Amino acid sequence: MRYSRMLIPTLREDPGEAEIVSHCLMLRSGLIRKLAAGVYNFLPLGWRVMKKIEQIVREEMELAGAQEVFLPVLCPSELWHESARWDAYGKELMRITDRHGRDFCLGPTHEEVITDLVRREVRSYRQLPINLYQIQTKFRDEIRPRFGLMRGREFMMKDGYSFDRHEAGAQRAYSMMYKAYNRIFARCGLDFRAVEADSGPIGGSFSHEFMVLAESGEDSIASCTECDYASNLEKAECVGPRMNELPEGPCMKDMAEVETPGRKSVEDVCEFLGCRPEQLVKTMIFIQEGKPLAVLVRGDHEVNEIKLKNLLGGVSEVILADESTIEYATGGPSGFSGPVGLKGLPILADLSLKGMVNFVVGANEADKHLLNVNLDRDFKVDRYADLRYITDKDKCPRCSGILNFHRGIEVGHVFKLGTKYSKSMKAVFLDEDGREQYMIMGCYGIGIGRTMAAAIEQNHDEDGIIWPLPIAPFQVHILPVNMDNEDVSGAGEEIYQDLQKEGIEVLLDDRDESPGIKFKDADLIGIPLRVTVGIKSLREGMVEMKWRDSKDVVREGLPHIAAKVRNMIEDKKRTADSKLESIL
Ligand code: ATP
Ligand code: MG
Repeated sequence: MRYSRMLIPTLREDPGEAEIVSHCLMLRSGLIRKLAAGVYNFLPLGWRVMKKIEQIVREEMELAGAQEVFLPVLCPSELWHESARWDAYGKELMRITDRHGRDFCLGPTHEEVITDLVRREVRSYRQLPINLYQIQTKFRDEIRPRFGLMRGREFMMKDGYSFDRHEAGAQRAYSMMYKAYNRIFARCGLDFRAVEADSGPIGGSFSHEFMVLAESGEDSIASCTECDYASNLEKAECVGPRMNELPEGPCMKDMAEVETPGRKSVEDVCEFLGCRPEQLVKTMIFIQEGKPLAVLVRGDHEVNEIKLKNLLGGVSEVILADESTIEYATGGPSGFSGPVGLKGLPILADLSLKGMVNFVVGANEADKHLLNVNLDRDFKVDRYADLRYITDKDKCPRCSGILNFHRGIEVGHVFKLGTKYSKSMKAVFLDEDGREQYMIMGCYGIGIGRTMAAAIEQNHDEDGIIWPLPIAPFQVHILPVNMDNEDVSGAGEEIYQDLQKEGIEVLLDDRDESPGIKFKDADLIGIPLRVTVGIKSLREGMVEMKWRDSKDVVREGLPHIAAKVRNMIEDKKRTADSKLESIL
């Protein structure tokens, strides 16, 4: 491609709308332009990268035995009523009504459509297992679309679905996809982790997220330094006190009420009473389906609402109570709630409370707390469970090793769905004995645009993007420094033709711009290998080559450039391949 013919509208300045590096660089290097909140145009360079990522995804899906299909964006509401997600999906579901008054949604994911297809076409155990995937535009009316392609309302996703006749087959499909995902993100040149994850509104029993490690990530990950445990913080298990951490003997003191004027926060109460947050129990009032409930966690812990929702039976909304509900449920104002004397509402407590004696709680009365409160003697807990977020004081739930914490961008997600959709939508097959059985499903998603954004988050410097070779829009950028010098422009053209003959993807900067502008744009758009044709070296018959991620310049004689470039690219690919082998 000739730069002069391509639409690459680079920007010198940081666009005000961008909050994170990848968003800013995508706008500055002319990859994307915003059309509406969370809705983007892809320009030629950006679209080439998307196609590269899609190609890697396709190759790995085919290798893993999945077949490509293409399902409609427009999905009839009837299917979504069958799965009960028409209501459960809430406002994120983009809904439209046709001229006949029939309701449709724009697919945010395709479990319903694929389950409908497979239940119609697959009858016998002989037709299973089957694994189908597509790469398609998805729609989600995100409450806060942001960070460019990271969280869009219209975005490209690879979604795949497996159907098996028994649990062992479903497990095999899951492992195949897990492996394929590892290969995909490694091939994209990303530093990532597969972590245990909550299944969210798609439902199901078991899942892993693929996280690209980056400071700007919206997710938090805990990983063990000693074993291979890694988990999204939403899911990370907290174990209760071990036997040797339980309080010993009869050491309970008498409960006492104290004045704590205006002290509501854990910090203020601790400072006022001269105690530590670990000696205090927070009582949080939540509302589930209109009814209040109390959740108790230690003062230095935070309630994990996802764990709470799962404990209460899955999809239901759980919200923090407002002031009037707190007054109604506890008899006191917020900031002074406590479990002693609470009536008519269930009390759930985090496991860590089992290790506590003589703790501080709110007195359910303004400006008062209770000291030396004890479990069972002063109040009863209805249910103990893991209800909090893990902290850096916790140990690995598997091996008690030390935990590390990182930020991550979720680029892919694999779920074991079990029979969630096959039961609600009656997707059955006949087994060897002619009996009807439910198909066992899995589903597997990758955000293509989010992967591209994550790649930039990990691969950039102050001058611009540094594309990993496998997903770069072009492999080589030829930069003839002065187009008005015929030797220079002629040599540039010759190299351009030669490289194209070699099947290498080349961008020739044939613009009549100043060298400064050309070098700045080359750094900004970040094509991996730059071939610079300058007057001085050309006089000696030489051309300069440089990887975008290195300062080293390689000089080579004009007649050997094509072969040299090919070798350099092959070398880079070999290094990436051996790295891939070592990871997997
Ligand atoms: P998140 O927690 O970030 O909202 P999700 O759990 O809703 O993600 P899935 O339903 O598992 O995501 O979708 C599969 C993949 O699609 C995700 O791993 C992510 O890469 C991508 N994805 C999801 N939502 C968006 C979005 N709004 N914009 C861009 N990509 C998205
Ligand atoms: Mg989401």
